[in-house]
Amino acid sequence: MVVLDSLPNANPVARLRAAAGGATGMESALRIVVAQLLDGLEFPATDLQAVAERMNVRLELRRGLPVSAMLTRDDRGFKVICAAEQARGRQRFTIAHELGHAVLETHGLGEPPRSGRAVETLCDRFAAELLMPSSMFERELRDGISLERLISLQRRYGTSLRATSIRCSQMTPMEIYVADSRDLLWTTGNAARYDGFLRSLVARLVDTEQRLVRKVNLIRDGAPCEDWRLEADLLKGSRDVVLLLTPANQPADRDQGRLLGGPSAARDRRAAAATRNSGRQ
Ligand SMILES: [Zn+2]
Repeated sequence: MVVLDSLPNANPVARLRAAAGGATGMESALRIVVAQLLDGLEFPATDLQAVAERMNVRLELRRGLPVSAMLTRDDRGFKVICAAEQARGRQRFTIAHELGHAVLETHGLGEPPRSGRAVETLCDRFAAELLMPSSMFERELRDGISLERLISLQRRYGTSLRATSIRCSQMTPMEIYVADSRDLLWTTGNAARYDGFLRSLVARLVDTEQRLVRKVNLIRDGAPCEDWRLEADLLKGSRDVVLLLTPANQPADRDQGRLLGGPSAARDRRAAAATRNSGRQ
């Protein structure tokens, strides 16, 4: 939410392209603008304070705010005020989203757009790019995704499980379902797929607390498909269950020659990740 008193009357993508020096296309403009903001900074995780300083935006956490965040302007410039009570990952995404509004405020001609679906969607895309830059995430996902890897990405990038899942699902075939013993809480996939079978798996996992990895036979795009790999586990510190569905033949499975990633597979993945990380310094 943005508290600024004026009317929206311009195309948000056009303003973003102006910020990117006229780049064509929203995605390339996003990458250019974010790359400029992150240039020379160490990440992950993205240092939002440093990025805000580069944009001449002040950050303030405040208790009791009636909204998740807002962008304000006074004689010293822009300020993002963010609700202090939010979980860290959620808070970081909210701040990054408001920094997206600040980009639109400070580029392009005329009055900037400040509300509406197109603006909010663009600022969400900006936040995802700022916290989980495409170029890095594409490298992170070149061997596919597993539950362990997803949680590791979430921790290293300082993002929520949901934002990380959405980002991953934009770049690699996967579906996440998070449910409690009664209901589906959220998904990046198809809520209609959360049927008797997946529901019964969740109930069993809540009972037994036994992580499970198996090949499953589910309908995909209306046709029978037998090559899904399903991982299910309890989310740490809660009774919620997370299910990850991926194509069973993703590179990580093929390369390691095993479908059921036991402790040694996890070690292999960690070693591979450590190698990649050290190579980036
Ligand atoms: Zn917004």
